Amino acid sequence: MNWDSEPLPDVTFHVGRLLGRGSFAKVYLCGSSNSFAVKFVHKENARALAGLNSKAIKNEGLFQKFCSNHRNILSCGYTGEDERWIWFVLDVAGGGDLFNFIEADVGVHMDVAHMFFKQLVGAVEYIHSKGIAHRDIKPENILLDINGNLLLSDFGLATIFRRHGRTKKSSTVCGSAPYVAPEIIAQNGSYELEPVDIWSCGIILFALLTGCTPWGFPGDRDVCYRQYITRAKHPEFLQKAYPWKNIDKEPLSLIVRMLEEDPRKRIKISGIRAHPWFMRKNPLLDVDGSCPSPIKVAEKLLGTLHIDLPGRKTQRPFGRNNLFRPLAVDKSNIMSCSQPTELKARQSSMHAQSQPNFESDNSGEGAFRIDDLAVLQFSQKAKVTNELVTITQKARKFDDLLPRDTLNRFFVHVSMEMLKSYLQGFLLQKGIRQIMENSEEQEHFVFDISLKDRRKCPLSGKVTCSRPQDRSDAFWKYDELIIVKFDRIKGDPLEWRHVFKEAARACVDIICTGDD
Ligand code: ATP
Ligand code: MG
Repeated sequence: MNWDSEPLPDVTFHVGRLLGRGSFAKVYLCGSSNSFAVKFVHKENARALAGLNSKAIKNEGLFQKFCSNHRNILSCGYTGEDERWIWFVLDVAGGGDLFNFIEADVGVHMDVAHMFFKQLVGAVEYIHSKGIAHRDIKPENILLDINGNLLLSDFGLATIFRRHGRTKKSSTVCGSAPYVAPEIIAQNGSYELEPVDIWSCGIILFALLTGCTPWGFPGDRDVCYRQYITRAKHPEFLQKAYPWKNIDKEPLSLIVRMLEEDPRKRIKISGIRAHPWFMRKNPLLDVDGSCPSPIKVAEKLLGTLHIDLPGRKTQRPFGRNNLFRPLAVDKSNIMSCSQPTELKARQSSMHAQSQPNFESDNSGEGAFRIDDLAVLQFSQKAKVTNELVTITQKARKFDDLLPRDTLNRFFVHVSMEMLKSYLQGFLLQKGIRQIMENSEEQEHFVFDISLKDRRKCPLSGKVTCSRPQDRSDAFWKYDELIIVKFDRIKGDPLEWRHVFKEAARACVDIICTGDD
């Protein structure tokens, strides 16, 4: 059914912009000062797609509320209902989706992976201590607070496994295939619940360190999984195989213990805590498990977001102009200001800060800069390192460096028609299903795309090509400048980033980079 057009319930609070969505839920920023988020679950659709009745939907809110008293769990408060919708009031995950900031097929710096992994294990240990298992630990359900701390979210598949000292098993087949434990899909009767969350945390650690998942699903029919099962018995083989070879010995030994096929032999949380890699010192973490310097974490994340453009010709559309200006005031910064006066003050102070650092271009006509951090990801590595020092010195908060919106965007300087043909060529070549949204305007077009990712899981999103909004900026003298944005709707953020990277590379000849 088409639930997209269904009006939201008549609630007493202000409903702002859409933060994200699932198959039968939408999450909006709410309140007069955008101080909370609300997840609206469409009852009829939840029943049709997942067989969930109202009680089961409400359990999500109940479990999340019950586990809210932990800094790494997205806290849930009030729950409401009308005849069509059930809704939960949530804290805003101000940092957005963690995996938006992880480079596909590369991963993150070891300290960053260690920090997020420790926070995730802390959250999982806490919910297990309350007798709740999550059962859906995967990138889409791992968000960040405004200071870059991890928040475990989406208790839609959570269940109680311990009550009044009695433990129960489950036989429900659920979860996302690349992240799910083998005993869930083996269907050999019932499975224990704590070990399945530990397995998923092992896959998350793998994904943090490599930027991909190890297999499509943990079963005999998956070649990568079969190879792993053989090689895990002989770590020297594993260390030679891609992408396992990119993982250092110590974290690898922990991952192998977490990805133990037999749930009875799988490491427990107490074992994870005692593992030497888990106990290593980490300059990004305080003793209490929080992150003392969000900017350092953001800097490290931004430093690994990088896309090589092989075959790029030296001749650029703009000659030697600098497309990147440090510490940009972009849309997401603007939206986080509650008062117009505050916004003005902030804009002018940021401009004052960044102005002296502009690379001046004496050719007059050529002064061309894009205020967008996304441009940096296409710069040469050495340039990124230099720019990062400058930007980091100016940043005050995590989201000065990493605004919650995705960095999956690039700029091109060609006509709309030419861009369209580049993108259509790419989508066709990759066999990606696309629907072009009709737009009356010549200046704007959108592709709705859906595909099966490299793990055969569904992936969908929108590719929006439009003129940048802020006409006041210097780059507006170049009428032809277009921003190409890849917004994921459903599916694995790492796989979505992979599609974005491929598309950017397909546009290698027209893309504007920080080196132009
Ligand atoms: P479904 O199960 O129907 O597929 P879902 O249960 O997966 O939906 P969520 O994971 O809870 O829905 O939310 C979907 C997306 O919305 C998240 O991946 C995230 O990007 C965004 N989101 C959810 N809650 C918040 C929040 N409190 N603050 C900011 N963003 C959020
Ligand atoms: Mg989710």
